[in-house]
Amino acid sequence: MNLIEREIARQDWQSMRCGCGDTAEHLAGDLRQLAGRGPEQRPVHVSLEEHVWSPATLWEPAPAVTSVALAALADELAPLARGWFLELLQRMVAGEHTERAEHCQAIAAQGIWLLYEEVMSRRSPADAGDAFEILTVIEPDRARLQRVREIAAEWLPVCCRTGLCDDEFEAPGRA
Ligand SMILES: [Zn+2]
Ligand SMILES: [Zn+2]
Repeated sequence: MNLIEREIARQDWQSMRCGCGDTAEHLAGDLRQLAGRGPEQRPVHVSLEEHVWSPATLWEPAPAVTSVALAALADELAPLARGWFLELLQRMVAGEHTERAEHCQAIAAQGIWLLYEEVMSRRSPADAGDAFEILTVIEPDRARLQRVREIAAEWLPVCCRTGLCDDEFEAPGRA
């Protein structure tokens, strides 16, 4: 069993209430589809909006999905699926000031080096940008983040390079 499959199997989906009102059981299949491990054997996009997240809320399965997204990034994934899991992870850390949002951010913070690897790999500028934006939320060491911002400036999107997408960014020399 690969990493993502293991992490999906580890979660008690049935006991969680999904944002759609059903149990979260269907999410196991949805996440396999995203990863390319569903019946089609290739990544198939499934929107988890109104199931795991909505613009205003993170639903009960969000922490479990955060764990699965991290396992996905550590696994061998098609580039398309990698991008989808990064987008999903970004949703999971975007919540504010609720216990659930903080829980998701704490889980995501366990994968800090996976995210730095994504930024530094230069595999895809869009993925590097998503990974960097997740780091702006979860990285407590702002000096380390700033250093990577400078190193990766050449291929990071403008918003990341300039700190526009980073709430805590302080322009060097301003402080
Ligand atoms: Zn649902
Ligand atoms: Zn950005």
